[in-house]
Amino acid sequence: MSQAQIIDAKLIAESLREEVGREVARLKTDHGLTPGLAVVLVGEDPASQTYVRSKGEHSKAAGMHSVTHRLPDDTTQADLLALVETLNRDPAIHGILVQLPLPAGLDEKSVINAIDPAKDVDGLHPMNAGYLAQGLPALVPCTPTGCMVLLERTLGSLSGKRAVVVGRSVLVGKPVAQLLLAADCTVTIAHSRTQDLPAVCREADILVAAVGRPRMVKADWIKPGATVIDVGINRVPFDNPEQAAAGKTKLVGDVAYKEALAVAGHITPVPGGVGLMTVACLLQNTVTAAKRIAGIEA
Ligand code: NDP
Repeated sequence: MSQAQIIDAKLIAESLREEVGREVARLKTDHGLTPGLAVVLVGEDPASQTYVRSKGEHSKAAGMHSVTHRLPDDTTQADLLALVETLNRDPAIHGILVQLPLPAGLDEKSVINAIDPAKDVDGLHPMNAGYLAQGLPALVPCTPTGCMVLLERTLGSLSGKRAVVVGRSVLVGKPVAQLLLAADCTVTIAHSRTQDLPAVCREADILVAAVGRPRMVKADWIKPGATVIDVGINRVPFDNPEQAAAGKTKLVGDVAYKEALAVAGHITPVPGGVGLMTVACLLQNTVTAAKRIAGIEA
């Protein structure tokens, strides 16, 4: 039985970060411009701390100006909005990312809406979502962009392919569907009310799973030879009963990976797949934002 080719997201993410690093160096030399990224972390959430540390390290490694603002759990909405406003006005900062989720009591929507859309490198401001929907230059959320980079570097042109996206969130499902449409795919967006989801998925040349349900997509939902992009990150107990009893957990995707390997043509693993692309795409977005703010052609 043939085995799917595993998409090497680590290699692709590394090469994207290197490309960004070269572009940062060129902007410094040719234009005296150093792209600047500000990351804001409120509270002590361990996963968020890890993500924020990684964003800081990689942006510095790419040669960017990088600032991390760590605020306490009891930060008020007014204080957070005041910091966003300061960063909006700071000419050394071209990208602002407020790490989500925010602690209870803080209103994420109003914080996102307060970010200058030109500096919204997470691509979550409604103006950027609107630009993307209209096919205009936008700052696009990083995980969906990462999915597209993986697809395009694996398959080349995506034109004419049937794409099914399972999930319709503002963060992943909707923007990835918009990007696939912009790449001339024929796109279906499925969600929790979709009828006969396995049959819908089986139509896909490209299947993107962004659901948050461990191993939901089974092998017989996948068209033989299809490219499967698994965005899901789910923490589950170990299969081994002893380890599970000891409370040990591991990360799995939304796709039943082992069985999918026998059917798919290409597939991303979890961990080690889409998640690795997110920071690389954040760096790329920061460079894009810096160039647009400075009026330098992309
Ligand atoms: P959301 O919870 O916001 O959205 C989940 C989507 O899945 C919804 O549209 C929901 O449908 C749909 N859904 C839920 N259950 C089913 C079902 N049984 N059948 C079909 N569709 C269903 O999640 P996100 O989009 O934010 O994230 C999705 C996954 O991606 C999560 O595992 C998350 O951890 C992961 N993620 C990974 C990232 C990475 O860097 N790799 C970054 C961001 C997210 P409905 O709208 O009808 O409720």
